[in-house]
Amino acid sequence: MASLKALGGTSDILPEETKRWQTLEQSAHRLFDLYGYQEIRTPLIEEAGVFTRSLGEAAEIVTKQMYLFQDRGGRQVALRPEATASVVRAFIEHGLDKTSGVTRLYYLGPMFRAERPQAGRRRQFHQMGVEVLGSNSPYQDAEVMALLMHLLRDVGVAVARQAGEPGAILQVNNLGCLQDRAKMLEALKSHFTRHQTELCPDCKERLKVNPLRILDCKQEKCRSVAQGSTVPSEWLCAACKKHFENVLQALKALHVSYELNLHLVRGLDYYTKTAFEVIHLSLGAQNALGGGGRYDDLVEALGGTPTPAVGFAVGVERILMVLKAQVETAGNTPVPPRVFVAALGQDSLREGFGILTKLRAAGVSSVTDYEARPLKRQLEQANKLGCGLVLIFGDVERDKRMVTLKDMASGEQTQVPKEQCIEWIQRRLELVP
Ligand code: AMP
Repeated sequence: MASLKALGGTSDILPEETKRWQTLEQSAHRLFDLYGYQEIRTPLIEEAGVFTRSLGEAAEIVTKQMYLFQDRGGRQVALRPEATASVVRAFIEHGLDKTSGVTRLYYLGPMFRAERPQAGRRRQFHQMGVEVLGSNSPYQDAEVMALLMHLLRDVGVAVARQAGEPGAILQVNNLGCLQDRAKMLEALKSHFTRHQTELCPDCKERLKVNPLRILDCKQEKCRSVAQGSTVPSEWLCAACKKHFENVLQALKALHVSYELNLHLVRGLDYYTKTAFEVIHLSLGAQNALGGGGRYDDLVEALGGTPTPAVGFAVGVERILMVLKAQVETAGNTPVPPRVFVAALGQDSLREGFGILTKLRAAGVSSVTDYEARPLKRQLEQANKLGCGLVLIFGDVERDKRMVTLKDMASGEQTQVPKEQCIEWIQRRLELVP
């Protein structure tokens, strides 16, 4: 008799691995709590309409990937392919849309999509995510993105600070409101219809149902046709443009690095205005770690009181894949200390030693030169070690109660009050948001 096995695309998580899952989940619970989000647990199975009405009848998740079946009572039911639609259904069902104020929810759990299994693409996989319902504020969009990046850093995923650096990269785009979207779709439809013969079979299909998704196709030919197309930003109304400018400003204020990606569209129809994705190049073809955006019309579309909303979902298996890849790379590459404390002269060394101790206590790997050699020699040492930042502390700085911070890559120097230097460094190194 053939032996019984787990279904393709599903996995057992054995005791040797569960510890890593628990650690991730604990970090998520702690951090979501810190930002004032409360946990919601919705059923894994829902009436199919919850998803078809939210995600769009034509969305690939619905047409190709949803586990859909009739239950014993003849109802059309589905295993949840994502959680936003279920959370919104619960939000309306329990009358939360009738209360004033902002509802901040988070969830953790399995999702189901009947996709062709491959690296990073499972049929049962797990997501952690948040949904904020009731806020229009661009700060809220920025907070949700900052929270996602904070979560990734907390669980140990390296975050890239600038293009070319290894690590997770936050990409953002503005999809505009429904009116903007209608104009944009028309323009895209006529562009892609002109180039129809050059498109892959999937995109020919997308042209009929949602030409926006063609912008997102990974096929080389479709990408080059998409490059020549209009980009969503050309169709934005003044209010949506202003909202996005404020989102970007808030991201800067929160020291969250991002890249604009004008071709970023999300797989689901319900996104409006801000859309974002976090990618990680070590993941290969399936390079998205997570994503999200605003969905200001979804609550109303599902029968609730109009309520603006924004959220994200991140894939647990993909986080674990990145962490594994990081450990493998780190095995071959020594990790340099982040900061070199260059004290100039014995008097400064005493205080420099205090700063070094505080840096280490704050979790910033740091070294110093106890011989307090001339600055030039210390900079050479820092360079040799690969430290990104040098904290210079000499007589001038001591008199002014300041420290000088030198960015070794750009050569740029900044003076910061001594009392604030630990926090400044943590922010600069993106160890805190
Ligand atoms: P989505 O809801 O499609 O935006 O997915 C959010 C995140 O969930 C993705 O960025 C992935 O990390 C993860 N994810 C989505 N689909 C799968 C899948 N089939 N297998 C594993 N992870 C997935």
